[in-house]
Amino acid sequence: MENKYILLIDMDGVVCDWFGRLEEIYRGRFPDRPFPTREEVIQFYVEEICPEDHRPDVLAIPREAGFYSSLQPVDGALAVLKDIQENCSHFIEPFICSSPEVEYEALLCHTEKAAWIEHYAGAWWTKRLILTKDKTVVRGHFLIDDKPTITGAMAPTWGHLVFDQPYNRDVIGNGRFTWTDWPKLKALLLQLTEQNRIKLRPETQSIIIAQPEDVCRLQIAS
Ligand SMILES: [Mg+2]
Repeated sequence: MENKYILLIDMDGVVCDWFGRLEEIYRGRFPDRPFPTREEVIQFYVEEICPEDHRPDVLAIPREAGFYSSLQPVDGALAVLKDIQENCSHFIEPFICSSPEVEYEALLCHTEKAAWIEHYAGAWWTKRLILTKDKTVVRGHFLIDDKPTITGAMAPTWGHLVFDQPYNRDVIGNGRFTWTDWPKLKALLLQLTEQNRIKLRPETQSIIIAQPEDVCRLQIAS
């Protein structure tokens, strides 16, 4: 295990098109109300850029049963998951790491996320599904995530690769990333593995990342 990169991959806004489905349902339900386009969502919490009296209706949609199972895959994501599964097992130990809705009706969100992964990515990935409200307690080398800032109970062991979205364009993290960048990240991780550059960080007793400058070479999204 210690000679592989532990790669954590977020779901919503990275593998699943969370906003696209929300927009579709909201516009269908409230056709006369304003709602931002994808590019206009420049804050992570989309309800905050909606009129205040509309916010409960925005918030309600992702908490409804069936929402998470109805999301569409993000372009390019499934091909990368397939590539990781089939071609990268000698240097990458991957996990899906997602934060579920906890206000969700009967907590069906957890089940729907697992079912979504099995349906779109296969049972191999459901064994690698981590659902947590605090990603900082999950160890890894890299976390690919669209959330601009990720905080929690611990200092994370992973470097945050920011998955490009309109609401995180001012964040660099430990590198920015889209699925079209995957061949570059894959090549870099393989190269670092072959150079034996994965090291233990004694203070956390965890496996730690490549040097930040290695990751920052991935800087692509703009
Ligand atoms: Mg996300």
